Amino acid sequence: MATNHGPHRLVFGETGEAAADDVDVAPALAPRREGDPRAATRGTARRAPWAGLLFAALLLAPGALSAGPPERATADRVGPGPAADPGSRRAVALTFDDLPATAVAGGDCDAATLLDLNRRLLAHLARFEAPATGLVTASRVCDELRGAVLPAALALWLDAGHDLGNHTFSHPDLDRTELEAYESDVIRGEAPLRRLLAERGRALRYFRHPLLHTGADRARKEAVDAFLAGRGYIVAPVTIDNQEWIFAAVYARAKQRGDGETMRRVASAYLPFMEEVFAFFEGWSREVVGREIPQVLLLHANELNADHLDELLGMMRRRGYVFVTLDDALRDEAYRSPDGYVGPRGLSWLHRWALARGMEPRQEPREPEWLSELLREGRR
Ligand SMILES: [Zn+2]
Repeated sequence: MATNHGPHRLVFGETGEAAADDVDVAPALAPRREGDPRAATRGTARRAPWAGLLFAALLLAPGALSAGPPERATADRVGPGPAADPGSRRAVALTFDDLPATAVAGGDCDAATLLDLNRRLLAHLARFEAPATGLVTASRVCDELRGAVLPAALALWLDAGHDLGNHTFSHPDLDRTELEAYESDVIRGEAPLRRLLAERGRALRYFRHPLLHTGADRARKEAVDAFLAGRGYIVAPVTIDNQEWIFAAVYARAKQRGDGETMRRVASAYLPFMEEVFAFFEGWSREVVGREIPQVLLLHANELNADHLDELLGMMRRRGYVFVTLDDALRDEAYRSPDGYVGPRGLSWLHRWALARGMEPRQEPREPEWLSELLREGRR
């Protein structure tokens, strides 16, 4: 990926989402879900002005209430959190890319590991009653397992009430792929998703570009936008972009070799880093939009989050966030602002809107240098 890691060379927003791909640890799997009707209702009913309409719509939607999260031990459940002061509440939609998993200790061809990683991620989400959207890259599972393990992993997400979208079959970089090949890859990624969703009376709606690369020139961007719209896709934006993938890559390799000390070091740096990222994008939202919008967080289905997502969700809760579906977040009018960015960077949508308003994007927090060094070492 194009991202630089040195403090002197850093370019904002060359996001890591995709970066997960250059990581040479075993690709992982991770499922995601789209609108969990039950979780969405629970997560927003006391707080969001659209909740009433949403609830009514859910009642009218055939089968909408049939796919809720599995009941978990009540004693273990943290729940959606106290109703925040209406004037100060914050909302975030969680999205997980590269389902069924990436940065997995154990590789992309171990069914038990892949399914277990997904179950652990989902358990964290269930405990916080947090809905999520998973963006699927089917090639993250080895060829031998794809036929069986991919649908099994993705079904876990759907049956827990989450939503799933397409993140292409093999994660091509739009800037380095012929348009036709890119479009074929999008279509190839659709098949298992459409089938699983249709079995549950649901439709495939979301697409996320690998690396958040949406087109380096206007003709390419417009062609891909038209192609995606023609297939019925809504582009899933990201506002809270971050370098989580670097933490995850180093963590997975440490776990693979049984290096508990590095695992602890990475995990203990992950939470404060992500909190710094949240603080940055909260402030940046106030500057660019004039208020804090419902944010869309980019994470990946990886070993690090399977082990530590609860701590991350707890941090968000402490900052006053309620967890909403991607559908709910995108109802905010800010998301109707056009993404006018044309260029090679994988930018947060807040940066895209800033550019459209003539503002220069500001450097978002970067991972610590020692972590970048461990990443480089791992690649040597
Ligand atoms: Zn990705």
